[in-house]
Amino acid sequence: MSIESLVVKHAKYADLKSDLKRKIGAELSNHKYSEAFEEVFSGKDKLSNEDIIYGTCGNHAYEAVKILNRDNDGGYGYDEVLHMYGCESCIKARKLKIEMGFIGTKLGQIRGAITRVGRKLTNQ
Ligand SMILES: [Zn+2]
Repeated sequence: MSIESLVVKHAKYADLKSDLKRKIGAELSNHKYSEAFEEVFSGKDKLSNEDIIYGTCGNHAYEAVKILNRDNDGGYGYDEVLHMYGCESCIKARKLKIEMGFIGTKLGQIRGAITRVGRKLTNQ
């Protein structure tokens, strides 16, 4: 692949990534405290009021997974728990974050290819 097409691809994925970042921020700003988590937290753990007020469902799911896996025989995954208890916006944000992860991998591969081209040019 030519250096030009690599650079063009890099720009395309970088734009996709910043677009996703913006969308994730917008979703997270719509987060509503999900009372469903209280089923997991009530009387079981010391999640402070501050955690509940300032955290998103993503933060709460992280804590809930620990509690659920400790109190049961394990086997609860983060995404499963977020889908069980989280608000719609945080679930959407999580999907977008996973998508952003793939784009980050793609960007890394393109950077690697650009680096290899650069090394070849250096060694000529
Ligand atoms: Zn939420």
